[in-house]
Amino acid sequence: MEVAELVWNSVSLPRQRFIMWLAMQNKLLTKDRLLSMNIQVDDMNCCLCQAAVLVETNTHLFVECEYAVKVRDALVQWSKISVLARDLKITLELIKLKHWRRFKKQVIAAVLGAMVYHIWKARNWKQFKKVQIQHTEIVSTIIREIVERIEMYKYTKKANRCRNFWQKLCN
Ligand SMILES: [Zn+2]
Repeated sequence: MEVAELVWNSVSLPRQRFIMWLAMQNKLLTKDRLLSMNIQVDDMNCCLCQAAVLVETNTHLFVECEYAVKVRDALVQWSKISVLARDLKITLELIKLKHWRRFKKQVIAAVLGAMVYHIWKARNWKQFKKVQIQHTEIVSTIIREIVERIEMYKYTKKANRCRNFWQKLCN
């Protein structure tokens, strides 16, 4: 499976595939990107962790930010799989290289896509609506969404080949 196939995989929710595709190519309008386009940004800090002197970049938001770390740690604990590298594209490359069944790769890529989608949404709510979404809320939403997606595919041949993997996630 190629990286693009992992992003656009059928287990991911369509709206999440799109955000993941943009994030992977560093095309979401993060503050560093706005600046590079000569768009005025009043406050460069990341609104999710409030840490001073941090410039909000794609890598900060989805990999380094303590908010992202909390979401990721909870998902690693749930899935028992840890693949996140220093950037999203490399993480997808790592998933691609794993000797996993196709469906397992799709599920893990979908978890990553859901994480990126919900962190981006939490960032936008905080930035523009001043509403704080708790990381625990994101984690339970992601788990619920992924389990629902697995349930949709569980009688397919590809899912049957790695039943031991996803059955643990659905319990
Ligand atoms: Zn942050």
